[in-house]
Amino acid sequence: MFRIGIGHDTHRLVEGRPLVLAGVTIPAERGGEGHSDADALSHAIADAILGALCEGDLGLHFPDQDPQWKDSESLQLLSRVVWLAGERGFHIVNVDATVMLETPKLRPHVIAMRENIAEVLGIEVGRVSVKAKTNEGLDAIGRGEAVAAQAIVLLQNTGPSEGRG
Ligand code: MG
Repeated sequence: MFRIGIGHDTHRLVEGRPLVLAGVTIPAERGGEGHSDADALSHAIADAILGALCEGDLGLHFPDQDPQWKDSESLQLLSRVVWLAGERGFHIVNVDATVMLETPKLRPHVIAMRENIAEVLGIEVGRVSVKAKTNEGLDAIGRGEAVAAQAIVLLQNTGPSEGRG
């Protein structure tokens, strides 16, 4: 049995914050504003997995108001969502994601992002796609005021996990 899920996330970009995407800190003049490390890509993938499971969204599982999650590494949140999927008997088949960011260019960092995601998801890097787009100078993303990410995942039910991650 297969399940599909979609996720989307946006973070405002501000000076004095690191730009973190899939756990990779990318040299940039501005970084994501947020309660956690504002890793829009990890958040979009986590939401896609939760969506496939019909388990709500990231905000439900890791509330902004909860100091436990302040400045938390989003890869760890993603890891907990993957664990939840395993508890429900699902493993991840593949992920496809797009990051929308005007600057800097993300291409040099794509392989590191794919490797981090693959490791957390427990799948080979060949099943993790990360694409990068600018917004052609349009809207808040185009003005460099925001970063956004979209992700879609496919899950397969393999029965109750047997000690899997
Ligand atoms: Mg977010």
